[in-house]
Amino acid sequence: MTNTERDLEYQPYSDVLEHQIRKIRELMAGEWQKAPGFLRRLEETGVTTDDLTTPESIRKFPILNKSELPALQAADPPFGGLITVPVGELRRIYSSPGPIYDPDGHLPSYYRWERAFSAAGFREGDVILNCFAYHLTPAGAMFEEAGNNLGCAVIPAGIGNTEIQVSVAAHLGANAYVGLPSYLKVLLDKAQETGEKMAIKKAFVIAEKLPETLRSQFQNAYGIQVRQGYGTAEVGAIAYECGEAAGMHFDPSVLVEILHPDSREPVESGSPGEVVVTVMNPINTLLRFATGDISAMDPELCPCGRKSPRLTGILGRVDQVTKVRGLFVHPGQLEQAVSPFENVEKFRAVIVRERAMDDMTIEVESKQTLPAHTLEDIGEKVKNLLKLGISVIQVERGTIADDQPLIDDRRKWE
Ligand SMILES: [Zn+2]
Repeated sequence: MTNTERDLEYQPYSDVLEHQIRKIRELMAGEWQKAPGFLRRLEETGVTTDDLTTPESIRKFPILNKSELPALQAADPPFGGLITVPVGELRRIYSSPGPIYDPDGHLPSYYRWERAFSAAGFREGDVILNCFAYHLTPAGAMFEEAGNNLGCAVIPAGIGNTEIQVSVAAHLGANAYVGLPSYLKVLLDKAQETGEKMAIKKAFVIAEKLPETLRSQFQNAYGIQVRQGYGTAEVGAIAYECGEAAGMHFDPSVLVEILHPDSREPVESGSPGEVVVTVMNPINTLLRFATGDISAMDPELCPCGRKSPRLTGILGRVDQVTKVRGLFVHPGQLEQAVSPFENVEKFRAVIVRERAMDDMTIEVESKQTLPAHTLEDIGEKVKNLLKLGISVIQVERGTIADDQPLIDDRRKWE
């Protein structure tokens, strides 16, 4: 990464978008011409490089759904004609569930996690315990790349052999962690049990929800600063938290769109939609790659000085979305709205359809009788997030089963 590109984080976002469009055009006219599967998709849609003129004009181009990859790869093995080099010229090839084969090519930074690591406080000379798997999946090598590029040493630990990991990390003075948040907790518990002293003071976590309670436990009980990121096996880095830990900045090396899952038009700022990204990667033609993940964009400027918008967190997958009165409701949104109410033990949303109208009620369980204003506050919070009027009632404890999904859709459609 050149210095100018590193500085992109701090440039006005409109300039970043223009820079991205220029780069994507260059790739389309250059390297991406070597990917027959990519050219086929453009031809079917009837668009050419010349149609890409502004950030908005990218909407004319076809979307590549993550869910299409297995079929595309099966029809034209192994990569659906979407990569620009012969298979033998790749650096590594992974197999993710699906099955999806992921190419990893010879670029100085194929997955671009350096900005995310810097924002998490990682610095040259750090010793990173990398607890992502190196077997078949890209995660291990992906994060090792960024650690090495920043000038850090990486211990390729993977997951498992917890006791050995703790003792290796302690003996080598590992001061940084990359992995699942839950596994960091497992390591810390094991260290307590065996009496090893670990020196980990910063952590970058991903691929699993990080509850704020766990984050503050890491901070308060162990003095570990934890920051999280978001990306996929195909794309690499998409977004990451800064020191503020209030949403994840778009990485300037990807163009991010948040689209309505049905219409595939941009959603209003702040409303949830599917994360669709274009990666400026000369080897893999990921133009408008739809991740299947739901998030929302916060365009407010961040006090950290980075100018890029932020993702407010990953709310879940597109296939978990339910439509109520034409609006999308996702369990992750409900959780975001209701979980701050500490007196609520359990809750669910019940959707019924009467006289051709959808009705949603949030049922909550609590140890105590909740005052009317608490129920109103919950209703207000959900309404603000979903833009949907609902009612909130308290139900007897035991009404909601432990393993019940958050959305109970009882509508009948005949
Ligand atoms: Zn920030």
